Amino acid sequence: HQSYSNGAAVAEHPQPANVFSLEGKLALVTGGGTGIGLEIARCMTAAGATVVITGRREEVLRDAVEGMGESAQYIVNDITDLASIDGLVAQIEATYGPLDILVNNAGINLKKPALEVTDEEFSRILHTNLHSVFALTRACAARMVARRKGTILMISSMAAYYGIDRVVAYAASKSAVEGMVKVLASEFSCHNVRVNAIAPGFIETEMSRKAMNSDPDRRDRAMRRTPMGAFGKPSDIGHAAVFLASEGARYITGVSLPVDGGNSIGF
Ligand code: NDP
Repeated sequence: HQSYSNGAAVAEHPQPANVFSLEGKLALVTGGGTGIGLEIARCMTAAGATVVITGRREEVLRDAVEGMGESAQYIVNDITDLASIDGLVAQIEATYGPLDILVNNAGINLKKPALEVTDEEFSRILHTNLHSVFALTRACAARMVARRKGTILMISSMAAYYGIDRVVAYAASKSAVEGMVKVLASEFSCHNVRVNAIAPGFIETEMSRKAMNSDPDRRDRAMRRTPMGAFGKPSDIGHAAVFLASEGARYITGVSLPVDGGNSIGF
């Protein structure tokens, strides 16, 4: 261990020519066929990674990889099928090699007043956004920890930070994911595995369009709460994901990075 007190220059660790490159890395992006996941996959392939995307709809995944060339592949998988998870990770590693990056992006939302949310609905959101994320993370992290190499990203939400009306189950799931990030980051840091979250603000995707269209005032309210005065693009999340997955972020673990046009500044 190097001490600052002995007056010696602090030695730099060896760095690749481009610390933000993902050249030679293998990434798994759940829900990578649409919206934010698709742009994360695109940005990661552009940065040099091979990316496997998953989702439930084969035609969506097929179209998605077509636009990305050789370095993108897909596997049809329902993340809520916990029994399928170990096989999924084993299949990816047998076919493409060791996984370096996991992006837990797949997620679902439900907009309803809390008093109208049924047990079935609450469980479905928590199962998809939380339990499945934990199960897949455990399967990938076990391998990463054994190899002492890897990084894991969760796609959280502003709903984890603020009381946004009518998303009680979604907010509960994303807050829980944020809690999990800190514990996993702490447990895995001595094994050279980093765990972080990105908390997107208002990003233009199918999911947010549905939420905006369900309430005519919502768009205006969202913009009033966004200092930059515009919705974000899925690629804004993609670029942040490339950074956090890269060597450039080697000393960053256990954080949640807001990518939100300033929502989290508060007002
Ligand atoms: P989309 O609905 O476009 O993407 C969700 C993706 O997840 C789809 O590709 C879907 O594919 C996949 N998915 C859903 N359920 C499952 C499942 N059971 N198994 C496998 N894949 C599944 O929404 P976004 O791109 O907006 O959302 C991506 C992430 O970003 C989510 O976690 C969301 O909570 C988060 N987020 C989004 C924000 C926004 O403003 N858009 C803001 C904050 C967070 P398929 O249906 O084919 O399975």
